[in-house]
Amino acid sequence: MILKNPLGIEVIIQDRAEIMAKKPNDFEEILRCKKKTKRECPFCKIKEEASRIVYEGSLYIVKNKYPFIEESYVFVHKNHYDGFEREGFAKEFGEGVGFAKKLAKEKGKFPLIFKNHGFFAGASLEHAHEQAILINPEDKPKYHKMMEFIEEELKSPRAINEFSFCPRASLEPYECWVVVEEKWERISKVFKLLKKALGEFDYNLILHTGEFPNIAQIIPRKQPPSGIELALARFTNPFPPEKVASHLREFLD
Ligand SMILES: [Zn+2]
Repeated sequence: MILKNPLGIEVIIQDRAEIMAKKPNDFEEILRCKKKTKRECPFCKIKEEASRIVYEGSLYIVKNKYPFIEESYVFVHKNHYDGFEREGFAKEFGEGVGFAKKLAKEKGKFPLIFKNHGFFAGASLEHAHEQAILINPEDKPKYHKMMEFIEEELKSPRAINEFSFCPRASLEPYECWVVVEEKWERISKVFKLLKKALGEFDYNLILHTGEFPNIAQIIPRKQPPSGIELALARFTNPFPPEKVASHLREFLD
């Protein structure tokens, strides 16, 4: 079954969960390995780089030292530990989002806000951080019927609770969407469920903003794109989102 998400990304979903559970993996050791470097964390001493800091509140916002696009900023949390389950973490993120949106508006740009956590999500530093890239408004993501999509999903068997769901076109197993609005702790609540189901996991988080309330897309990542995905120019997902949502609901209080 080929499905499309609101950004137009296609995914093929097939129920292969039982087969996948038996699949051997020669690289399991790598999946479990912790980082090897012992060097000092550059973000733990970010306040020494005063010229890069554009904002200080419950977290720092700094100019990206290695930008892909000129207007790139990094939200650097004051606490090294990277996890939405930490008390106050989501609120700090929300504060960063507020600043990035304000900055984008002043500069006539659109803010792309995202987080890469862990090796398989493309993160290069372990210290808690997110990123904001200010792009030209004409380059912003083209969303297709976002609010209709949200309403339908929240009423479907893919709903986890009244503000989160596993989307029908889940790009990866255990993808979750959270209708955050300004209630940042909702992200933490969903992360707590995911942690119970998956343990530690790498992920990308994308914050969708625009003509609708803040919506967080959490995409757990276990591997880089595979050959079949590159060959088909589509994601492939062996875990139907209905089953994943039902598994996550088991952990609700
Ligand atoms: Zn650090």
